[in-house]
Amino acid sequence: MASILLSCWLYLVTHFSDFQLACLGSFFLHEGVFFLSGLPFIFLERAGWLSKYKIQSKNNSPAAQEKCITRLILYHFGVNLPVMLLSYPIFRHMGMQSSLPLPSWKVVVTQIIFYFILEDFVFYWGHRILHTKWLYKHVHSVHHEYATPFGLTSEYAHPAEILFLGFATIIGPAITGPHLMTLWLWMVLRVLETVDAHCGYHFPWSLSNFLPLYGGSDFHDYHHRLLYTKSGNYSSTFVYMDWLFGTDKGYRKLKALKSNGDEDDKKM
Ligand SMILES: [Zn+2]
Ligand SMILES: [Zn+2]
Repeated sequence: MASILLSCWLYLVTHFSDFQLACLGSFFLHEGVFFLSGLPFIFLERAGWLSKYKIQSKNNSPAAQEKCITRLILYHFGVNLPVMLLSYPIFRHMGMQSSLPLPSWKVVVTQIIFYFILEDFVFYWGHRILHTKWLYKHVHSVHHEYATPFGLTSEYAHPAEILFLGFATIIGPAITGPHLMTLWLWMVLRVLETVDAHCGYHFPWSLSNFLPLYGGSDFHDYHHRLLYTKSGNYSSTFVYMDWLFGTDKGYRKLKALKSNGDEDDKKM
C-alpha cells in the first residue's frame, strides 16, 4: 500500500510542478470528490430509493436541484479557484511542499485531527455570527434556501460565506504548513463530512451511529429545518460545542421525545 502511494506520488511530482499540484490538483480533486459524493443523493431523492432512511418526507424539485448545481459550478470557478491560486504563496511561506519523502502517518493523523477540532471551533462561532439578523438576511439565508438539504447543498452559499467559513477550513493547514498529501487528505475528509451532514438521509451505516461525538446528517438536518433564530446545532463536525454552549437544547428535546415515542410503540 505504502509503495503504491509512493509510486503514485513520484509520478505526480515528476510530471507536474508544485504550483500545478497545489492549485489545479487541489481544485480538480475537490470537484471530483464533491460531485461524486453529492450527486448520488440527488438520484436517490428523484428515484425514491431508500426513502425509509430519508430524514424529511419533503422532496426537492428537479428545478431546485439544477439551480443548486449551476450556482455551485459558477462559485467553484469564480470563488474557490481564485482563492486557491491566491493562497498558494501563503501556504508555501508556511512550509507546505509536495516533494518526497511523504510524511509519516503519525504526523498526518495528528495534523488532520487538529484541523478537524480547530475547524469545528472556528466554524461554530462563525456560523453563530452568520445567524445574527443582518448577516442572516443578506448572506447566510442563501445556504438556508434549502430547508430539505441534499449532499450538494453543503457548499451552496453566498460567496461572502464561502470566504468567511472557508477560513475555518484553511486556518489549520495555513498555520502548520503540511505536506500537500496531508492537505489533500484533509480536503477529501472535510468534503465527505459536509456532504454527509447535508445528505438528507440517516442510514444504519451512518458514521454518527458509531462515533458519539460526530454530528452527521440528523444533527445538521435539524439546523436546516427550523427558523434561523431557533435553529441551534451550529457545529460543522462534532456535537460538543453546541452541548457546551447550550445551542442543542431543542434538538436534544426532540430526540428525547422521539426515543420515548419509539419506546411506547414497542410496548404496544
Ligand atoms: Zn445556518
Ligand atoms: Zn448546512
